[in-house]
Amino acid sequence: MPAEQIRRLGEELAEAASPIAIPPGFESQGADASQAHVAVAILNQTLGAIGECVRFGTATGGGRVASLAEMRGLIDRMRSGAVRTLIVADTNPAFTLPRSLGFAEAMGQVASTLSLSSHFDETATLSDWILPSSHALESWGEVDFGSGRAAIAQPLMPPIFDTRQTEDVLLQVAVAAGLETGLEADFATHIREAARGRFAAAGAEESFDDWWRDLLAGGGLLDSGSSPGSGVGMEAADQPALDAGAAAISLGKAAVPEGMALIIYPTVQFYDGRGANRSWMQELQDPVTRAVWNSWVELHPETADRLGVSNGDLVAVSSETGSVTAPAFVYRGIRPDTIAIPLGQGHTAYGRNARGRGVNPLDLLAGEEDRGSGALALAGAAVDVRATGERGRLVILQGSDTDHGRKVAEILNVSAALAEMDRHEIDLTKMVEAAYDSDPNSPYRWGMTVDLNACTGCGACVTACYAENNIPTVGEVVCGQRRDMSWIKIDRYFEETADGGFQTVQQPMLCQQCGDAPCEPVCPVYATYHNPEGLNAQVYNRCVGTRYCANNCPYKVRRFNWFPYEFPYPLNLQLNPDVTVREKGVMEKCTFCVQRINRAKQEAKADGRYVRDGEFMTACQQTCPASAIVFGNLKDVGSEVSKKAHGPRGYRVLDELYTRPAITYLASVTHAEMPETGHGDDGPSDGGAEG
Ligand code: SF4
Repeated sequence: MPAEQIRRLGEELAEAASPIAIPPGFESQGADASQAHVAVAILNQTLGAIGECVRFGTATGGGRVASLAEMRGLIDRMRSGAVRTLIVADTNPAFTLPRSLGFAEAMGQVASTLSLSSHFDETATLSDWILPSSHALESWGEVDFGSGRAAIAQPLMPPIFDTRQTEDVLLQVAVAAGLETGLEADFATHIREAARGRFAAAGAEESFDDWWRDLLAGGGLLDSGSSPGSGVGMEAADQPALDAGAAAISLGKAAVPEGMALIIYPTVQFYDGRGANRSWMQELQDPVTRAVWNSWVELHPETADRLGVSNGDLVAVSSETGSVTAPAFVYRGIRPDTIAIPLGQGHTAYGRNARGRGVNPLDLLAGEEDRGSGALALAGAAVDVRATGERGRLVILQGSDTDHGRKVAEILNVSAALAEMDRHEIDLTKMVEAAYDSDPNSPYRWGMTVDLNACTGCGACVTACYAENNIPTVGEVVCGQRRDMSWIKIDRYFEETADGGFQTVQQPMLCQQCGDAPCEPVCPVYATYHNPEGLNAQVYNRCVGTRYCANNCPYKVRRFNWFPYEFPYPLNLQLNPDVTVREKGVMEKCTFCVQRINRAKQEAKADGRYVRDGEFMTACQQTCPASAIVFGNLKDVGSEVSKKAHGPRGYRVLDELYTRPAITYLASVTHAEMPETGHGDDGPSDGGAEG
């Protein structure tokens, strides 16, 4: 980074009203990661951000994580025969430790190994005994959120299989062995009895049984925290002062390995590899590559040119400890001397959706540590990369990397966004449209806003939609034929900036519930039609599968059931009984969670009123961690969705087609100079009125 850029950043931080420096995440977990975090803490102290934007809290109940040195010590003791019994509970070190450390081989030197896992994972496969443990949602527990907040975790459902939770196994073994533990015989009773102290402290007038029942019915929250409304963490006055001595750092020139440097990063789908057996996660697209069901090697275009590879060509990556071969993904966002491989794939066990998919990049690590924390260094290993001359299969569910200037995914420069705010006037035409795109006698025109500035592309909304609407996963091959079934899809665009760089914008794309919907007039059997509340309804048992509607949809958000997808036991238990399971030959798409709309209307009707703003949410809105999605009634001018839809950043995709979408996107805002700025006043987005 040039000195001038660092100086400019320093000046911007000094001028900012609420400056904050945010430390790097997992992707920079190299040998100097702790040093980087200390540097950021010093910067925040200098900026006065500690206690304001940054609050240190008490440790949460996440538990202590063993350092790599401790794991090496355990492996050494296992190898020497000093460990007679090894119990592995709810973790999978045979997969999550670099293979070069030899954990799997060392397990062979232990006389008795026991796995307490809910999955038949790599460690379980190597164990002498497997006592399957219940899932967290089937288990009792205690949660400590820090800051005085604690809660009882209670099972959401009885165990599906013949499993026990780990604590019960240990208690029952102790009882069978005749040990005097002083604990209850089962964990649920232990949790209940342990809460008696809290009951006494609460000074409640009711009986313990009534207090306990109310506690569980209310969600199990034991304390509301020391300072309600102040957020997690200590108050500003209680923040620890930075110890300059302890914070001393040595910022040398980072050691750049010979050849290429490897970055291994956890993914939103699998984190460290857990979750890889879930087809929902496998079919969820990666936020940057938009790839599914596989691993890949991210390469800069210059590196790709040098190797003579393009997307999907197999490249071999090798180090002194191993080698992996995976398809290439060419990406401008990575340095030419660096490659990146996602973590979480490459299982040799763990279940049919995980086993044999992708590669495990940990095979390339010798086990270097972060010097400060002792954690495994995931970034910075030296590797050799070469083309194999073969093609692999990399299914990428992204049509185009750019919107070709059609203002599908808008990014505004800050000054352009401010100018929009200054000159903004509410577009009365759009308000009138909202009133007439549903039956004038209906009190509702359902609509949505999606804030592209807030959306991170995490895909939580996508999976929530799968869960809510009984959407099938179709597998890698069918995804490769572009027959994936997701009703909401995140499109990722790279947009050029004026200085030759690029900005990434993530755009959730779903049925736009058009006021003048191109899909409706082409359906020969009226299977898709406009309902009185402005929704494009879809009547499944009228659909004869001509797919004219999908052809005529400019947003490409309709999905056709090419096969009779099945939900074999126990997956049938996840089906939402309020939503039909569709059959082969039927078209489907987002309905704004019409089942939730109907339930809210029925409840409102029973109370003799209309549905109130914010009374219910769509599944995607409910799940979005960034609150990027707002849903509600566009006919209610006071609703949050109306205010956002008519705000200065609001625009509708392909508005020039006069489809009158019920979804308004809020443009993303960037500090970078964009070649074209502003929206709604020029270009194709303004052509709506001619329709
Ligand atoms: S809308 Fe929300 S949940 Fe969906 S991808 Fe964006 S940030 Fe994630």
